[in-house]
Amino acid sequence: MTTVLKPEPEKDHPIQMQDCKNNDCKTQSSIYIETKNSLMKTAQVFEKKFFNNDAKVDIDRQFSAIWDYKKALIDKAGLSQYVSPADNGLVDGDVLLSEQQARFLINELQKGNFDGNWKNLPLPDLNRDKRSALFFGENNQFIQKWDTSQPILYMFDETYDEYEKNSVRQAHRMISSAASCIHFQFDPIAYKKGHFIYYTRTITPAVCGLSHVGRQPKGNVIQINFESCEKLAQTGVIIHETLHALGIEHTHQRVDRDDFIEIVWNRINPQLIDTFVHADNNIYSTYGVQYDFDSIMQYKWNMGSKIPNKETMKPKIAYTQNRARMGQRNHLSPSDIEILNKLYCWTGCRDLKVMCGRWAMLGLCSDAKYKTFMKNRCKLSCG
Ligand SMILES: [Zn+2]
Repeated sequence: MTTVLKPEPEKDHPIQMQDCKNNDCKTQSSIYIETKNSLMKTAQVFEKKFFNNDAKVDIDRQFSAIWDYKKALIDKAGLSQYVSPADNGLVDGDVLLSEQQARFLINELQKGNFDGNWKNLPLPDLNRDKRSALFFGENNQFIQKWDTSQPILYMFDETYDEYEKNSVRQAHRMISSAASCIHFQFDPIAYKKGHFIYYTRTITPAVCGLSHVGRQPKGNVIQINFESCEKLAQTGVIIHETLHALGIEHTHQRVDRDDFIEIVWNRINPQLIDTFVHADNNIYSTYGVQYDFDSIMQYKWNMGSKIPNKETMKPKIAYTQNRARMGQRNHLSPSDIEILNKLYCWTGCRDLKVMCGRWAMLGLCSDAKYKTFMKNRCKLSCG
């Protein structure tokens, strides 16, 4: 049905386009090229190391699908005449997509009719109750959840030192204490046993960490940059990336984010607008959890700014207080904890529709007209 918000043409394009004269927004900088090469190399090493698989053709297809998705976004925003997106292999700043996920998003984009206001999305149709086939909690073609009846197995790159391993262990302890049904267990031969997380490193200075979103068919590679990122934030970065692997998306890309933050499009490199579009509202639910500036999945206020120390995201509420919270990597916030628990630990409750989260935020759980419908179909979001 839907997907991204495009920048408003009248308001933003002239300013963005000033940066794009001389075809500047159509060139691929060396950092984009290096980042993509590094990611492709890591993917190849992973396949070779654990599955003795060359996989070059598959990896080429994966990365061209990711770029196709980014091109489709630029096209949707009406910028393709001026802008070629960063072909750096990443979306949303730190997320990797499988080929299937990228193609799925392209398909969703083509169906898109989201006007940017989540409150305009459809209300429950009480007369025609067709089940969504795409929902995360049910049969999501985009994101797979982990089976948490067993510990999630993980491995380390052999170059990890004790400090780096301890950072990962600490991140796991913090996730498990936030959501007690989720456990992690180191296993040196996890790759022989099914799904697992492989913590390795990235050498690209462009990111502190990166991850796939949702469980991947063979294994999830999480890459951490211990060299160039703040030491104090490293455990928080590992939590952030591990939550992506568990299927959680960025807070500032929630469908309702425009109620809480203003995106300052004219300070954002137009080649990187994917980082600031709304997450697909047919894939991600808010589970009725309130927006939280303190979320470990919220980017910092100056993320991706062309002008250092100028906001790309401005809080619309309690400006000073919330700006200071944005981008914290010290702890899981109450909303992070609530979402993790709803996703994985509330085993007695289910949502049958991806829209349940939004409907819950609109107050429909207690609305006379809808409450029976909500009680039957949106137990998780209604809490
Ligand atoms: Zn992220």
